Amino acid sequence: MRAVASVLEEKQIRVDEPMSAHTSFRIGGPADLFLEPRKDQLSPLLAALKEAKVPLMILGNGSNLLVGDKGIRGAVIHIGNSMNQIRVSEDRIEAEAGALLVRVARQAQRAGLSGMESLSGIPGSLGGAIMMNAGAYGGTMADVLASVELLTEEGEIRNYSLEEMDFSYRHSRVRDEGGIVLSAILQLTRGDAGEIDAAMADLTRRRTARQPLEMASAGSAFKRPEGYFAGKLIQDAGLRGYRVGQAQVSEKHCGFVVNLGGASAAEVRQLMEDVRARVKEKFHVDLEPEVRFVGEF
Ligand SMILES: Cc1cc2nc3c(=O)[nH]c(=O)nc-3n(C[C@H](O)[C@H](O)[C@H](O)COP(=O)(O)OP(=O)(O)OC[C@H]3O[C@@H](n4cnc5c(N)ncnc54)[C@H](O)[C@@H]3O)c2cc1C
Repeated sequence: MRAVASVLEEKQIRVDEPMSAHTSFRIGGPADLFLEPRKDQLSPLLAALKEAKVPLMILGNGSNLLVGDKGIRGAVIHIGNSMNQIRVSEDRIEAEAGALLVRVARQAQRAGLSGMESLSGIPGSLGGAIMMNAGAYGGTMADVLASVELLTEEGEIRNYSLEEMDFSYRHSRVRDEGGIVLSAILQLTRGDAGEIDAAMADLTRRRTARQPLEMASAGSAFKRPEGYFAGKLIQDAGLRGYRVGQAQVSEKHCGFVVNLGGASAAEVRQLMEDVRARVKEKFHVDLEPEVRFVGEF
């Protein structure tokens, strides 16, 4: 605590902060320390935490996480509103990691820049989307990135080109090496603002029709197994609506696990294990979680 107070102001530090308030699942026990640094404070903050041997994790918009019921020991560094600047210049956008993809996509549309349409409905931050190489409707982050600014675990700032980011399905080099995405430059193409708007509206309609957006979830619970769709396998295994406590395989889209209200992380985890076991038994396919499990269960 003392280590952190030498770098951050009091209003940037919260103690025992419930993670359920910061995850789209609305699940998760308290984080010992919940920190909201500015970009210029990150490097000294990492050094101070390292010196004090405090473990840390990075939080974006919390839309791909299942946080354990006992919470997170150590520090959660939230990359959100304190790092969310977006700048458009010609056919490029430079944005900080805490900017929400929805906002980046809207700014692109207003500037008549195409490329973000398919990603516009993903409820993550730019940093989280880069880390996960998020994608939807045929597009991924890797398709629009020119370069990424990263703070390494050693506290060095590095700029990586698209090729150096080592992107593949839901994977980037940040997943392997750690570090914090600070900002990125997106390379877009000139288009018609009206047409881009129409394309975004169409994808939003499709998403709303198929996905249980009205319920708390973390999106697709499992990765797409090679040659299959996770949702279809789960449905064909007879698990539509399957429940453990207040956690449920969505009735609307079997690829989603939803929190009916007050679900615990333990219930979601048990439900996901049951689903994996049933799909394995029936179809001999291994489902791998896309949702990231963090903290103590
Ligand atoms: C309703 C719904 C629909 C969804 N639809 C899609 C979809 O169509 N496609 C898709 O790919 N995903 C989808 N998701 C999942 C999720 O939105 C994405 O994975 C998103 O990219 C996560 O971003 P985030 O900022 O919320 O990350 P978080 O959930 O906060 O974190 C995810 C991981 O990224 C790390 N991280 C976050 N920020 C940074 C940073 N700045 N630097 C380094 N690491 C960081 C975290 O440590 C964590 O390991 C959906 C989720 C929901 C709830």
